[in-house]
Amino acid sequence: MAIAECLQELKKTGKVDQDKPTLKRYSKDHSYHHPMEPLCVFTCQNENDIQTCLRICNKYKVPVIPTAGKTSLEGHTIPESSNVVIIDTSEMDKIVAINEKDLDCIVQPGVNWMELGERLEKLGLFFPPDPGASAMIGGMCGTNCSGTHAWRVVLADGTVVKTRRRPNKSSAGYDLTRLFVGSEGTLGIVSEATLRLRRLPRFHAVIFSQFKTLQDAANTVAQVVQEGILLNRMELLDDFSMKAINLANKSSYGELNSLLFECAGFSEVQIRDQLEALEKITSGHHCVLFEKESGAQSAKLWNIRKAAYFASKALRPEIDSHILTTDCAVPISHLCEMLTATRIDLSNSGLVASIVAHAGDGNFHVFLQVDITNEKEVQAAEAFRLRNATLALKFDGTCTGEHGIGIGKRELLVEEVGHETVELMRRIKKQLDPNAILNPGKVFELYPKAKL
Ligand SMILES: Cc1cc2nc3c(=O)[nH]c(=O)nc-3n(C[C@H](O)[C@H](O)[C@H](O)COP(=O)(O)OP(=O)(O)OC[C@H]3O[C@@H](n4cnc5c(N)ncnc54)[C@H](O)[C@@H]3O)c2cc1C
Repeated sequence: MAIAECLQELKKTGKVDQDKPTLKRYSKDHSYHHPMEPLCVFTCQNENDIQTCLRICNKYKVPVIPTAGKTSLEGHTIPESSNVVIIDTSEMDKIVAINEKDLDCIVQPGVNWMELGERLEKLGLFFPPDPGASAMIGGMCGTNCSGTHAWRVVLADGTVVKTRRRPNKSSAGYDLTRLFVGSEGTLGIVSEATLRLRRLPRFHAVIFSQFKTLQDAANTVAQVVQEGILLNRMELLDDFSMKAINLANKSSYGELNSLLFECAGFSEVQIRDQLEALEKITSGHHCVLFEKESGAQSAKLWNIRKAAYFASKALRPEIDSHILTTDCAVPISHLCEMLTATRIDLSNSGLVASIVAHAGDGNFHVFLQVDITNEKEVQAAEAFRLRNATLALKFDGTCTGEHGIGIGKRELLVEEVGHETVELMRRIKKQLDPNAILNPGKVFELYPKAKL
């Protein structure tokens, strides 16, 4: 590794930033993982810039980390050493084409999903994934926010490949798009993505329902899924979440376990059928509130749900808490058992946390409020996180439904898929990135080096 020569060559492009505040900004993410400043930040305006940067770094075997919106939560974009070049793709923010008739669009990696959503809405279309507000397409591909079906990717040596063409269905060779989805910047850098879009339904209804027990709310979710009632969204907020939301927003919602349902369809009859089915199922699980919300009120509820992550800090106003978030997912028939065990474990460990779930997918987050200056508390939170993921695996679930592995779940990945599978991932990486320059140490550790 010849860091000085590499830096000198990169600087000749005029795209390198080494200002102290910039390096500090790129040293951390929203998570509790320890920060580390990179060597420099290389800002790309186009695919050519990505190629140039990769060719130089590959020549000197200097590691790189691609970034987009920087909202990932498992240390994905934090350097593991101070010799890392950040390749920032956030300024590649063009919507190249919206193909209304084919229900797809072509975008650069720096396009923010909310801005794209505003453009699409005017055409009666939408792109379903819904991550952190500042997330961008490059990072969403990196963490598998799904909905993508073709990419241009720059490989470690600067070669550009297109994974497939635009039709919805293709059997042309290996499905390389899926290979790169969720690869966390370890296999290549996305320079352009084709996204599959959906038509916005014409009719909507939002239901806010509440339950005295977490079990009743979870069993409601399972029954809705098992009966095949197709909803746009179904989100669970436990009683601690509702308390945090009230504290953070000075609102006065009942501090009970809550479910938010969004029905959507292309006819009023469809909506009416969904509402009737939901009313029947929720009342069978002792629901104490079933309110149909409209217009501004329903928008307010979704905004509150979106803000539940940051609102959770209100549960511990006395400390500058860091949020350690989990994102296990289990098969829907185990959701109730899983959430019940999670809440009991939290209470036995004396940890302060709220639970929020993208419930229809069996995917839930525990937002743990951790005082990182208290070593004992950090250890207790880490131990909980491991126990919780291990329990999810016991139920044939996953340690990560959407945030990815990063550096925080590398050991859990081995437990989840087995040594042989992780070894195959290492072999794939070795083929695509022989010098191991692309986000090394994320997803799995690079040792045993002899095998790479
Ligand atoms: C408040 C909050 C709420 C959230 N809610 C959700 C949620 O509901 N659902 C969900 O799925 N996630 C959620 N997240 C997590 C996060 O928003 C997602 O993981 C998102 O997809 C990350 O996108 P990003 O642009 O911020 O990526 P970054 O953080 O910049 O990068 C993420 C990964 O992708 C790689 N990468 C970045 N750019 C590229 C590129 N051009 N080519 C290849 N790889 C690249 C990086 O190296 C990294 O490994 C939430 C986060 C926060 C802070």
